[in-house]
Amino acid sequence: MATTPASANVMEALVSLCQRRGFIFPSSDIYGGLNGFFDYGPLGVEMKNNIKAARWRDFVQRRADMVGLDSSIIHHPATWKASGHVDNFTDPLVDCKVSKQRFRADQLFFAAVVVEPEDGAPAGAERQTIGYVSALESARTDAELQEKALEMKRKKAVRGKLLALEVRDMTAAKPEEIALIPSPATGEPGSLTPPRSFNMMFQTYIGALRDETAIAYLRPETAQGIFINFKNVIDTGRVKIPFGIAQVGKAFRNEINPRNFTFRSREFEQMEIEYFIDPEADWQKCHRDWIDDALAWLDSVGVPRAMLSEYAHPKEKLSHYSKGTVDIMFKFPFGVQELWGFAARGAFDLTQHQKASGKSMEYFDEATKRKFVPHVVEPSVGVARIFLAALSAGYAEDEAPDDKGKLEKRVVLRLSPRLAPVKVAVLPLVKNKPELVAAADQLHAKLKRKHVVFYDQSGAIGRRYRRQDEIGTPWCVTVDFDTLANGTFTLRDRDSMKQERIDEKALFALLDEKLG
Ligand code: ATP
Repeated sequence: MATTPASANVMEALVSLCQRRGFIFPSSDIYGGLNGFFDYGPLGVEMKNNIKAARWRDFVQRRADMVGLDSSIIHHPATWKASGHVDNFTDPLVDCKVSKQRFRADQLFFAAVVVEPEDGAPAGAERQTIGYVSALESARTDAELQEKALEMKRKKAVRGKLLALEVRDMTAAKPEEIALIPSPATGEPGSLTPPRSFNMMFQTYIGALRDETAIAYLRPETAQGIFINFKNVIDTGRVKIPFGIAQVGKAFRNEINPRNFTFRSREFEQMEIEYFIDPEADWQKCHRDWIDDALAWLDSVGVPRAMLSEYAHPKEKLSHYSKGTVDIMFKFPFGVQELWGFAARGAFDLTQHQKASGKSMEYFDEATKRKFVPHVVEPSVGVARIFLAALSAGYAEDEAPDDKGKLEKRVVLRLSPRLAPVKVAVLPLVKNKPELVAAADQLHAKLKRKHVVFYDQSGAIGRRYRRQDEIGTPWCVTVDFDTLANGTFTLRDRDSMKQERIDEKALFALLDEKLG
């Protein structure tokens, strides 16, 4: 029976599995790592490529209204001035002067601990604030704050009833409260600074000069590369509104507090689409359709609907130009967090670039004979977030019989076949029978022309199955004595652990069907 370990353990188990089996390593590991950067190992690079390829196939190549783009990472710096990133791409930063740690103010939560006198308390007893508690955002922030408040009341030996905590984040702290809020690093108040704006773009210089005129930025999103190429793509004559441009590539954000493994990294890959529509078209329908398509697609690649939810950004928190933003949220082991964002950005970006560059971003619509700057709907997602969602949804521990039939613990990654780094493992039943090894070699050579296949002849067959289960290989094909007699193999399914006989033609047909 499949069991899922407690969430905290899932994260620990995943990080360890990723390192041990070669999915993800900390970057610059031999030098002690580099916070917020990661390296994808032999299996990780396959899986990452599979995510990008599946999304490209389904959202670009299989649609008639989409084209692709691969822009440079460094754009003309005027791009980032026009888009508003130079002035506004900031996060609120809070320093702890004692520990020298830094926190994002909107991820640092606090509450006043207020105690009310109980019935029968001496006359004149009043409701009192006995201190403040704080905690960093996590799956159990509220519970953590509650525990800390009870602990404070107990330590200070205050009698009375603890009032329900009013939890706020540091961006909402009043100036007089800042000195009273304990630092999450030290547990003591007095060391936190008021929030200040911190620009998250990484700067670099172009050419030999190191002055203001040479400053450039590593792109913090792939979207602007699409907007500044809008005219070029229109001029190719291949597209008619409504249509979209997709791009996949590296983005860099100097995140204040990278955490939760790869969830918030400083260097990551984004998969973005700008879908251009007539300003008079029904943007809400277009927006909804993209969300629905993404939900269905995630489900089809092993990120199940039951673990997904939607979060509509409240109107008052939207940027002035935004018509609406909805995030698809995923139930990560560390809490429900943004997986994929869908922003209706109106004509903001194209209009900004039109103003700044002096080049027209208007589109002439043949059908209605109207000229307009199109509006845009932007689905935007990080490859690493889909990677992590698929790993956490797929991770399970159950039991499987060993070679002697005794049940033992099994770790299995139930990845969708399209995302799994290795599609099939070819296993000769024993390694000391040359005929078996030769037949296995032959099958392996044929399969690997088309698929990523793993060949393994060492160890008991049960252990070899287990090694494949742990990395999510959907099928193992065992070459055994019946293979020599009738050309069939044992096909063993990762999830059901059922075994059946299959011939080569049926095996290739199965792979075509499941991986297509
Ligand atoms: P947040 O507010 O959480 O910092 P955001 O809402 O600004 O993030 P967007 O700019 O909307 O994020 O980015 C679009 C998508 O890119 C996100 O939904 C996420 O999948 C991905 N993404 C953003 N920042 C990171 C990061 N630091 N590491 C990995 N993926 C990221």
